[in-house]
Order: sequence, then C-alpha cells, then structure tokens
Amino acid sequence: MRQSLIALSVAAAIAAAAGCSKEAAQAPAVDENAQVQASAAADAKSSVVASNPLLAEWTGPYGGVPAFDKMRVEDLKPAMEFAMAENLREIDAIAANPEPATFENTIAELERSGAELDRVFAYYGIWAANKSTPEFRKVQGELAPKLASFQSKIIQNDALFQRVKAVYDARNDSDLDSEQKRVVELTYNQFANNGATLDGKAKERYAEINKRLAELHTKFANNVLADEEGYTLFLSDDQLAGLPESFVKAAAALAEEKGEKGKYAITNTRSSMDPFLTYSENRELREKVWRNYYNRGDNGGEHDNNAIIAEILKLRDERVELLGFENYAQWRLQDRMAKTPQRAMELMEAVWPAAVARVEEEVADMQALADESGADITIKPWDYRYYAEKVRKAKYDLNSDEVKQYLQLDKLREAMFYVAGELFNFEFSPVEEGSVPVFHEDVKVWEVTDKSSGEHIGLWYLDPFARAGKRSGAWATMYRDHTTFDGKTNVLASNNSNFIKGAPGEPVLVSWDDASTFFHEFGHALHFLSSNVTYPTLNSGVRDYTEFQSQLLERWLSTDEVIDNYLVHYKTGEPIPEELVAKIKKASKFNQGFATTEYLASALVDMKLHTADPEGIDPDKFERETLEELGMPDELVMRHRTPHFGHIFSGEGYSAGYYGYMWADVLTSDAAEAFAEAEGGFYDPEVADKLVKHLFAPRNAVDPAEAYRAFRGRDAEIGALMRDRGFPVPGKESEKENTTIAVKD
Ligand SMILES: [Zn+2]
Repeated sequence: MRQSLIALSVAAAIAAAAGCSKEAAQAPAVDENAQVQASAAADAKSSVVASNPLLAEWTGPYGGVPAFDKMRVEDLKPAMEFAMAENLREIDAIAANPEPATFENTIAELERSGAELDRVFAYYGIWAANKSTPEFRKVQGELAPKLASFQSKIIQNDALFQRVKAVYDARNDSDLDSEQKRVVELTYNQFANNGATLDGKAKERYAEINKRLAELHTKFANNVLADEEGYTLFLSDDQLAGLPESFVKAAAALAEEKGEKGKYAITNTRSSMDPFLTYSENRELREKVWRNYYNRGDNGGEHDNNAIIAEILKLRDERVELLGFENYAQWRLQDRMAKTPQRAMELMEAVWPAAVARVEEEVADMQALADESGADITIKPWDYRYYAEKVRKAKYDLNSDEVKQYLQLDKLREAMFYVAGELFNFEFSPVEEGSVPVFHEDVKVWEVTDKSSGEHIGLWYLDPFARAGKRSGAWATMYRDHTTFDGKTNVLASNNSNFIKGAPGEPVLVSWDDASTFFHEFGHALHFLSSNVTYPTLNSGVRDYTEFQSQLLERWLSTDEVIDNYLVHYKTGEPIPEELVAKIKKASKFNQGFATTEYLASALVDMKLHTADPEGIDPDKFERETLEELGMPDELVMRHRTPHFGHIFSGEGYSAGYYGYMWADVLTSDAAEAFAEAEGGFYDPEVADKLVKHLFAPRNAVDPAEAYRAFRGRDAEIGALMRDRGFPVPGKESEKENTTIAVKD
C-alpha cells in the first residue's frame, strides 16, 4: 500500500502529462463487487491472480519481470479492482489486529501490503505514458474515481490511523533505527496531511473533494492531449523553407502515417513546435504553429481547461482549509526541502530580475539582426527561437545541425554507461534478445551489475522513440524498487524518450538539448538503481530534491572523457572538435534569459495560483495580471501556460512545486562546483564516493538538507547557479541576497 500513500492523486500522477515525472504513477482505489470477491477463500484469490496476467506474480529471469508481452486492456479494470480490494483487505487486517500496535505489526505490514496493486500499476503506467489508446483512456476515466475513493478509504481508516499514531507517538522511546523512524514519520505525515485527523462531516467532504479532483485531473490531461492531436498542421512542398532536411523527412513520414502522403505533418507537440519555430522562414506559419501550441486547453469548446482549473483551485483550497492551512502551497511545501512558499518565492524572486534583464539584451540583439536583414518586424514570441538561432550563429557561430552530427543516440547511451561505471561502479550489459518481455519492439533491456563484485543490481529498460499514443517529453520510471526488509529485491528502472527514428540503417542524431535530457533521465534511473534503503517508502521522492540528482548528471555530457570517446562524428568517427565544444560551452550561457524567464514565469504563476484566494478566479485573467505585475517581457510566454500546465493540473505531482526545478538547479550548480574544484575533476573518486553515499543511495531515508550538508560540508549557495547562467552574482555583503537554500529548522 506504499503506493496508495505515496502517490496522492493517482490518476493524476499516472496521466502524468507533465514533464519528467520520476515516480511511475503508483496509487490506489476501490470497488464493492471486487471487495466481495476478495473476501472469498485463498484458492479463489490465487485463481483470479493466475487467470489475469496483470495480477500474476512476475516470473522469469532476474527475480521475475513484468509480463509486458501479455498486456490486454480488457484485463485492466478487473485486475485493478481486484488488487484494490485485496489491498483494502490486507489493510483491514492490519487495523483489526488485537495486539498493541508496533512497528512490525503495523508499519512493516503496511510496507508489505499491496503487492498485486504494485504489479498492476506497472502495466497501468505503461498504458498511460507509453502506449495510450482510446480504449485505455476510457478505462482510465472509469477507474479514476475508484482509485480516489480507494485512497480515501485507507487515509480515512481511523482504526489504522490510530495504530500508526501509536507507533509514531512512541517512536522516540522505542529502539527503532533511523530508517524505521523515518518510515514511521513519513507514514504518519501521509495520514495527517491527508485528512486522517479529521472527523465526521469534514472527513466526508475531504473524501468527496479528492474524488472530484481525480476526475478533473484526468479530464485536464485528456483535454491537452485532444488539443495536441487535434491541431496537426499539414504542409505542402512550398512551405518548408528553412527547415532542416532531417526534420522534413520526419514530418513527411509522420504525414504518411496519418494518411496524408506527400504532405508534411507538424504535430502540436513541443518536439515539433520547437524546431519548427527555430528554423521555419515562414513567419505566418511560425505564428500559426506558436498559437496552436500555446493555446492548448484554451480554445473554448469541449476541450477548454479554464473552468476545470478554476474548480481544481477551489477544491484544493477547500481541502487544505479543512486541515487548518492558509493555502494549498503552504500545505504542499511542508515536507519539501524548501518547507515554505516564502522560501521558494525568495529564491525565484532573487533570480527573476537578472533573467528579465537578460531577455532585454537578447531581444535587442535579435531586433538588430532582424533590422539588418531588412525584415520590417518587431520581435514577437513566434520570432524568438528563429532569431535566437540566427544570433547564436552570428555571435556564437554554433550551428545546431552541425553539433547534431556528433550526437548519436547509441554513442550517447554508451557514454552514459561509461559515466555510471566511473561514478557508481555499475556495468550495463544487454540482456539476451527475447529473454525479458517488452511492450514494444523498440524497447531494449540491459542488466546492471556491480563492476567489481559482479553482483546483480537490476534491469534498465529503454524506450527511446516517439510513436502514436506515447506521451511527449522524456521521463523515467521504476517498475520495482530496491528494498531489503523482506529479502533483497532488485530494481527495474526505465528511461523513456521521444527521439525520431532515423532512416533504416542511419544513426539517430539528436540535439544537444535532447542529449542533455537523455543524461538527465538516466540520472533518475541511476538514483533508482543506487538505492540502498530497507523499506519501500524510503524510495519515495522529495519533489524539490529529486530533480537535483538527474540535473547533476547532465553535467557529465560535456566532460572531456565523454567528449573524446563518445561525441564522435557519425560518418568520420572524429571526436567533436575542441572549438565546437568551446562554442557549446560558451553558448550554454546564451539564451539563458529566455530559458530562465519562460521557466520562472510558469513557476511563479504556479506558486501564486496556489497561494491566492481561489474564490471567483478566472485563470486566463489571473495569468495575464500576474505576468503584468511581474513585468513579463512581451516577447515570450510562460513555458507552460496555465490551460495546459500538466505538471500542476494533470495531477498534484508538481502543483505548487514547479519551482522545484530551480531549487534543484541551485543544488546542481553548487554540487557541480564541488567536482570542478576537486583534484580529479568530474571523475574524482572521493567526491564520487560521497555523491553516491550521501546524495543518491539514501533516497528519502535521510532528510535532504542533512544529506546535502554531509556531501558538501555546508548548505548550498545560489552563487554557482548565477555563474552558470552568466548572471551577476548577488553581493556577498548582503545577508538577504546571498541566499542559501538549505532550511534551518
Ligand atoms: Zn527529471
């Protein structure tokens, strides 16, 4: 049942329209019929489990692996209903135990429960993220309210909560070790923060709200998806000016797939929009693509998300008011590293002016270039990427297409394995083809072992390519986590991307950004794989901390060892020239105004939406007015506008939490400087040891602020981040501005 407690808002987490969500959507819910079933004899149970492949024990090599080759949507609903009922039965038994509550008979039993549900969720997550279909989405819609009510039943099980509370109250007078104590605290907080302390009417209302929110989150995500699928633009031969050959080829293939052979499909997703706006010379088309993309969920009609957002905000506010919190963000941040909305806002506001000032410089550069070229225009948002690319070429002489020729997907993967070997002492070997079931022929699997001892650690699944039904972006998930409390379990981790397949026999060439993202997601996988915790709950993430490990791993892409051996030209095999690398490094500071501002605008709006009074809120107006107040430059928009901000409205994973990327960025820059300053640089064995020991392996078994201090010898400071982005570092003499981000409580 760890899933039920850890991932609040299941459907949401699962629909995960959001960026990179590290937790494979895990969660909970219920059905009356299924409950009746579950109370039947043990034989009945084993026959149900055996007859539904989604419930069946994982068999085969490597401690058992998911039967991804046996997935049928028609099995999902019965499997889920059975697993939820089974989980509730286990929980009732824990709650009804006549013995006094102890760690073993209450907390450890909770950690143990829900095995069937864990298994079903591994499949559910694949359907939701990797191979969605209309049939699945229908089942998903039907399950959403059941999952929410399942979760409520656990949280509102008062007998269970009283037992958890008894263990919690006695935790300091018992002989629990530090991990056990942390599991107790995390478990208690999950209950307390989610209404367990409520009585009577308040408790009922709390459950109602959760149920409705789950429906709204799913609807929100599906509306965005509908606007992504419904706005594909088909171009003809005369509308391709400026577009790179590889992009045109991919667009042609996509059009053919969509039954428009001879045309070129520009899908309404970031992976199409971004390159199109960067390269297309056709300004009107750029504007059209830009409008399609940034109006997702904001088009009026049946897929418009504004009313849904208003209702979500109201319900979230009402729910935390029941718990005695002033606003949603305050409730949300209490167990984050930042602890309070104020601390998160302070960090964002410290960086915002420098970012906006940089935008002004960038726009001035672009406008000058446009004027020179005789284009009679004022830079608009649909011009930003296009002219930025021209400024980049003029000022930084960096052609993204030239860089791509050195970034082959296969070589990048080998580079990641090399880095994992050096830092984590991991070895990756491909498993024999066909020995581990996969859900699509593109998915490949590697075994991960300890380089010195040969000890098996887990499997790594890679699903690299875009296809219909797969959500956009890149993400990492875990099908099984590391634990030792009932015997050691191995980790099944996955990385997922949306690279466009090359023509047959040709290597897949990717952009520098995509290469960074590939490393980023691999960082999540390494974080899963390096876990040394005892209990499942300790594998849970802390939202503003959990992006740090993955962001840090991006830094190894531009280390000399990787550059010299893996970033080689796809035709000549020559390593990427030093000058080009120098340009890339210089260019990494380029356009930081745009990147930081578009991100911060989203993060600030998120935080303000969740600290504002939601009564009568009009999301469009709120967004407009907030950006005005902030002094948002006219030439760009939020990275995720409110009507399609899946991070915060497709679920609660990142709600009042989008700031977490920057919080993690501060840690990333600061930790990277620890390597840069070390004798052995980024491969310094001592710093690497500390990295794995303090920042990766403990997962959530240690308070993040403490873990960071153990690694760095002090709290993180904002200076390294400002240096990385080429922003002025706030003066050291000013106590307030020299922001450190660890929390002193
Ligand atoms: Zn991430």
